[in-house]
Amino acid sequence: MKIGRNISLTGRNTFGMKVSCACLVEYDSPEEYRELLSSEVFHTLPLPFLHIGGGSNLLFTADFPGTVFHSRIDFLKEVSRDGDSVRIEAGAGTLWDKVCLYCAENGLWGTENLSGIPGETGAAAVQNIGAYGAEIKDVVESVVCFDSVTEGMKSISGEDCRYDYRTSMFKEGAKGRYAVMSVVLRLSAVPKPKLGYGHLKAAVDALTDGAEPEPMTVRKAVLGIRNAKLPDPAVTGNAGSFFKNPVVPRSSYEVVENYALSLYGSDYIVPHFDAGAGFVKIPAAWLIEQCGWKGYREGNVGVYEKQPLVIINATGNAVPGEILSLEKKITESVINTFGIELTPEVEHI
Ligand SMILES: Cc1cc2nc3c(=O)[nH]c(=O)nc-3n(C[C@H](O)[C@H](O)[C@H](O)COP(=O)(O)OP(=O)(O)OC[C@H]3O[C@@H](n4cnc5c(N)ncnc54)[C@H](O)[C@@H]3O)c2cc1C
Repeated sequence: MKIGRNISLTGRNTFGMKVSCACLVEYDSPEEYRELLSSEVFHTLPLPFLHIGGGSNLLFTADFPGTVFHSRIDFLKEVSRDGDSVRIEAGAGTLWDKVCLYCAENGLWGTENLSGIPGETGAAAVQNIGAYGAEIKDVVESVVCFDSVTEGMKSISGEDCRYDYRTSMFKEGAKGRYAVMSVVLRLSAVPKPKLGYGHLKAAVDALTDGAEPEPMTVRKAVLGIRNAKLPDPAVTGNAGSFFKNPVVPRSSYEVVENYALSLYGSDYIVPHFDAGAGFVKIPAAWLIEQCGWKGYREGNVGVYEKQPLVIINATGNAVPGEILSLEKKITESVINTFGIELTPEVEHI
């Protein structure tokens, strides 16, 4: 267990915001966490409390006045095998991509499309991470947490996590109540490729010459696509997709369709997905690009030239105000052009 006061968070958020916290606590096991909570020291920790993982979905808008907790619980093991169904458990502090690599190397299906997503396993289950037509909710068997209300450990089933698009009850409803200690995943030992999204099948076919892929092949294809279009946070500060893809009533989608019709002609199809019940999901990247933001630069910040959904700390010297100002301008321009309000995927702290 490590407790420090006035600690820099610069290396702990992938946006590279030069901020600090009043106190940082890092713990190595559920027992250590539990002991801390029942100790005298706990009552000296400044409020508010915030759990972080790798800080790859966070925008610190200022120095954090309270205590930041970080789990260093790092393990990965197979817990059971029942026919073709294999359960593995990973510590909250285990790098998520380490889990994906382990699954691919062991011929287990279920995480390969989620390869290369930055961050840790505990946060992945909080966020309901998703990519290339897969979401972690599809394979979460249970999330093992410390419940600050009952002051005990609790295993919450995937169904009870109330998963939705990039969210769960850990982020909404029960925010701050649970500290994730580990995650149990249910994987398949028989092939279950999900290649229907975008160009993934073509990328996989290019690696296999059309033969049935292994999970490792899908992983390699996914990593190839990701590396070609997303900035590496170790080089350029960013937090991935800054905005969520808006889900709008069909009438709002028709406004967008008419806009595209007048500009690009009747053959043009606006990228969109049926979201059910008369709703349509539109890629935020498309809306932002239409408003002219792709590759935009302003002072220390900008919009990534290969993926307009990503706001970047272009020089490494950006301050939170610059990101917030660019966020506001992008949001306003999308409202003014399409009448659609974007909401951030990146959590503002
Ligand atoms: C280049 C890049 C690409 C990305 N691509 C994708 C993508 O394809 N798909 C996608 O879904 N996301 C993507 N992301 C976003 C991000 O990587 C994920 O949201 C990731 O799961 C965040 O993990 P983290 O460990 O960094 O968590 P953090 O950002 O530190 O925290 C995320 C949330 O989890 C909570 N939390 C963290 N640990 C715990 C814990 N132990 N107990 C309780 N709560 C906890 C935090 O309070 C916060 O609410 C990308 C980010 C970057 C920088």
